[in-house]
Amino acid sequence: MNLSERDKKHIWHPLTQHKTAKELIAIVKAEGASIWDEDGNEYIDGIASWYTSMYGHGHPKIKAAITKQMNTLDFVMFSGFTHKPAVALSESLIRILPTNQQKIFFNDNGSTAVEAAIKMALQYHSNAGEKRDTLIAFEDGFHGDTFGAMSASGLASYNAPFEDFLLNVIRIPTPQKHNLAEVLEKLEIAIAENSCAAFIFEPLVQGAAGMKFHSAKGLDALITRCQTADILCIADEIMTGFGKTGKNFASDYLTQNPDIMCLGKALTAGMFPLSITSCSQAVFNRFLNDEIHKGFFHAHTFSAHPLGCAAALEGLALLNASEILTQRNSIAKSHEVFVEKISNHLKVKAARCIGVVLAIDLEVEMERYGKLRDTLYQHFISQGIVLRPLGNTIYVLPPYIISAKQLQKIYDSIEEALLLM
Ligand SMILES: *Cc1c(COP(=O)(O)O)cnc(C)c1O
Repeated sequence: MNLSERDKKHIWHPLTQHKTAKELIAIVKAEGASIWDEDGNEYIDGIASWYTSMYGHGHPKIKAAITKQMNTLDFVMFSGFTHKPAVALSESLIRILPTNQQKIFFNDNGSTAVEAAIKMALQYHSNAGEKRDTLIAFEDGFHGDTFGAMSASGLASYNAPFEDFLLNVIRIPTPQKHNLAEVLEKLEIAIAENSCAAFIFEPLVQGAAGMKFHSAKGLDALITRCQTADILCIADEIMTGFGKTGKNFASDYLTQNPDIMCLGKALTAGMFPLSITSCSQAVFNRFLNDEIHKGFFHAHTFSAHPLGCAAALEGLALLNASEILTQRNSIAKSHEVFVEKISNHLKVKAARCIGVVLAIDLEVEMERYGKLRDTLYQHFISQGIVLRPLGNTIYVLPPYIISAKQLQKIYDSIEEALLLM
């Protein structure tokens, strides 16, 4: 029996309807921008394995850093103890995060980073004797799959069976050039009619919604309004962080600093599950008290895992290294040229890019989304490319180290895909 057959016996996969799912591909090796299956077929990882492996799979420097760390200190719990990889990582991150971010709280995955952020915001108010019980979030946002994170998420397809068990959330549309006044008015009503604790958002790019963009100026206006009402602003940069939008963080396009930030995914260059919830000094100070329970009683067993911290530190050293910067810029330029080229295609409704994120919305009726997605996915796989279209959107988010030839192969394959529609 091969791996795919053995897998079927006992494994339950995420985001999978096993009754109708196609055969899974067993991957046995990954290097650079490619992965290989058990039959020796190579695939270009066009979305960097959910935007994590931005420096390529198996980057030798990151592997070496993890190995070195493993040989000195594999793991120790992070309550009552600290260690050098965590301390060094906190110092390096503070240097590049928006200037008001002063404290680093460690978790083990994106959803738990969001969960910690939401709990911080709720307790921030309760520590001051205020019960604020409502969150503000964008329509179609995605923040993860644990209950708090899921509550903040607005994608019905993920949440439907759990709707009755979620936190109170008021949803507002994302700010675009044409609708800012209207969105601000909706925010005003939300603030007037509820006791709002926090506003959580994916800054500038909504990933799972189909790489949808919104206006930095509009987001600044929303943050400003929230902060005057002491509503904590949580920037979920789990997808956008670490260079994807062209700057270190999407928040770097804003003039207003978020109070809390969530980091994950590319944080460890795709080599280790680790996430961070950072916050301002003012948020942290709200938890300082002689009463022990005013502290933040939240922990995950693998908080600040030394191996993850070591990978993250080395990843940060690579983020703005000159060879990576050159690659980031050249991918961004290629995307722009391709967007220009494809925008007028009859089957293309809209195309857009920012940094290394490229998205193409196809002209197709909603009833056909599911079928189209499967057709496109299979088309790309058959050509040795991994892309995971979302709804009617094809997106590309390649590792920074992808070669010009590999990137061109992806563009060509997308153009061929348009002929299938
Ligand atoms: C992936 C993602 C999450 C959830 O992270 P997990 O590690 O999958 O739990 C949260 N927010 C955003 C914006 C994401 O892209």
